[in-house]
Amino acid sequence: MSRYIVGLTGGIGSGKSTISRLFVALGATVIDADQIARDLVMPGSATLQAIVARFGPSLLTEDGSLDRPRLRQRIFSQAADKTWLEQLLHPRIRQALLQACDACPDPYVILMAPLLFENGLDVLVQRILTVDVSQETQILRTCQRDNNDRALVEAIIASQISRQQRCARSDDIIDNETSTPEQLRQRVTQLHINYLAFASQHAR
Ligand code: ADP
Repeated sequence: MSRYIVGLTGGIGSGKSTISRLFVALGATVIDADQIARDLVMPGSATLQAIVARFGPSLLTEDGSLDRPRLRQRIFSQAADKTWLEQLLHPRIRQALLQACDACPDPYVILMAPLLFENGLDVLVQRILTVDVSQETQILRTCQRDNNDRALVEAIIASQISRQQRCARSDDIIDNETSTPEQLRQRVTQLHINYLAFASQHAR
């Protein structure tokens, strides 16, 4: 029986990292899907070698790591390259995510994936938890955190699934708009208890 996986998602600046820290404080393990995807193309990895074999060494920075902006530029202008890259990466990312989740000794594991729906990772998880805020709050908090300009954050939001669709496809939602820190802690504690119970049913 595979690990019980809870997908944690939400738009940019909704509070996923903040909520994940509350789960970690309760002893849960959070696996960061973006980090796993980055690790997959580390210098020396077979996946990075495959990318270089196709696109050439100009896709590498001086220290031998993947030049992501350059790769993005390349696939933006070449549809066939984009398809090729997705077909290379997606199965490998899924496999690496499932391996990381299965290696976790806890009853359940949280898979934090900002693009859970957009990248089709929702099929890997047993339950979906969304952190939800209004778009205005997303913009304000992200700009404050990253010193980004508003237009960039709006463009990122526009490229992501809509708030309505994300919430409609979720099992649990945390309102991070108006909750106090104490209310958030209580909500996360309750969800943690629920997930432990769901995981023990799942294991039977
Ligand atoms: P995400 O991981 O979804 O991009 P973060 O957890 O980094 O979002 O939160 C975005 C920013 O908003 C961070 O600077 C964080 O400290 C802040 N933040 C998160 N939750 C709240 C909250 N309830 N009230 C005020 N600021 C918050």
